Amino acid sequence: MGSGDEFDAIVVGAGPGGVSAALTMARAGLNVVLFERAERPGQKNVMGGVMYGRMLADVAPDTWRDAPIERVVVDERVWLTTPDTAVSLGYKHVPHADFSAPPNAFTVLRVPFDAWFASQAETAGALLVPGTTVEDVIVEQGRVVGVRTGRADGDLRAPLVVIADGANSLLVQRAGLSRPLEPREMALVVKEIVALPAGTIEDRFNLEPGRGATVEVYGSITRGMAGYGFIYTNKESLSVGIGALILHFMKTRITPWDLLEGLKTHPLVAPLLRGGEVLEYLAHAIPEGGVRAMPRLYGDGVLVVGDAAMMVNNLHREGSNLAMAAGRMAGETAIRAKRAGDWSARTLSVYQDLLEASFVLKDLRKYERLPDLAEHHPDLLQIYPALLSEAIHEMLTVDGVSKREKQRRILRRVLAQRPWWRILKDAVDGWRALR
Ligand SMILES: Cc1cc2nc3c(=O)[nH]c(=O)nc-3n(C[C@H](O)[C@H](O)[C@H](O)COP(=O)(O)OP(=O)(O)OC[C@H]3O[C@@H](n4cnc5c(N)ncnc54)[C@H](O)[C@@H]3O)c2cc1C
Repeated sequence: MGSGDEFDAIVVGAGPGGVSAALTMARAGLNVVLFERAERPGQKNVMGGVMYGRMLADVAPDTWRDAPIERVVVDERVWLTTPDTAVSLGYKHVPHADFSAPPNAFTVLRVPFDAWFASQAETAGALLVPGTTVEDVIVEQGRVVGVRTGRADGDLRAPLVVIADGANSLLVQRAGLSRPLEPREMALVVKEIVALPAGTIEDRFNLEPGRGATVEVYGSITRGMAGYGFIYTNKESLSVGIGALILHFMKTRITPWDLLEGLKTHPLVAPLLRGGEVLEYLAHAIPEGGVRAMPRLYGDGVLVVGDAAMMVNNLHREGSNLAMAAGRMAGETAIRAKRAGDWSARTLSVYQDLLEASFVLKDLRKYERLPDLAEHHPDLLQIYPALLSEAIHEMLTVDGVSKREKQRRILRRVLAQRPWWRILKDAVDGWRALR
């Protein structure tokens, strides 16, 4: 490869983060090369996956309507499970009939979505180089000056490298921006794509054609580990998955496969999947260390975007949108650096400022204590769903016992399983992690 005089920026990884960065820069006339290890963007990527319209439209304002989406999400449910019950919370809405504004949330399959998204960057002028793994960053006197690829003529130099290679990024470490991650900072998620006819999905989830539902499943289903399961509707398939902290898998020795089987055979989940054919089985890591485990986000000649930068808001099932927003801001920072002719950390620190002023770092800072709670108190996800389920069961059972007596029974049962001072402590810990 060449000296790289021809490129302003090298972007590593054609996921939502890298493509957003490349697209933003290319639209402003910067010369960008986008490396992707898969032969076709999306081929190796895994996600639930719910994406968010606003962040997509911010990056692709003219073409977001053409995105290959599966279903517009109109029904979002949360189930708190015990082995044979679920307390269900939900929110349904009627979406815009047309696509005059981007839908809030929609499901995607990453293979078609990523290929389409990367093609937007190409159309804007970025050079997509698929089937090419970036093996290292080239660092000279503390400054990132290019990348080393697995190709024969493998080195390429440019004034900026945007690292967007996803979870557990080796390149971030090689650039000297972070330490190796710990098992408490990563979750492992396994997922199946289960084929079902569109009509069957619409009947089972009570949906109009083209509309979609999401179900997040907490409680007994993760067997004492911090994590959750999910069921998302695609056009003609369901994405069904579950994950937990790698640390908890190591401690419990439960396999991800067992956890997924437990979800699929739960008496309230199994009827939704009945008759479905498993098309794919996938596994992937999610960075869950939060803002305290973030790498440095910029340096001389380098910016870090998306999962590589630990930008996941797990509680709200957000990651792709943070990656897109951060990618756009990395692109905007590069445009300023190009104008200033200065790619040093001083100019690139604008990226941090943009992120701090946006929902990306504000949200991650809001939940900075959540990873600690998840690591040390996964039991809360067992105890409280069970207590809630018992309480509701008691109140809904019509057995001639007075409601006041039922309330007393519930209180006695709760206090027998969790003394009042522990409940108070849980409430304080929960409040501090979520406020
Ligand atoms: C099972 C699961 C479910 C999820 N569900 C949701 C959801 O419902 N909603 C949501 O918003 N988020 C969800 N997420 C998180 C979301 O997928 C990520 O936050 C998002 O994909 C991050 O985008 P990214 O571009 O930073 O990284 P990625 O999407 O991981 O993209 C990184 C890209 O870099 C490429 N790459 C990696 N290394 C190299 C290399 N050395 N050289 C060249 N290319 C390389 C990869 O092939 C990939 O294309 C989920 C994640 C998982 C695992």
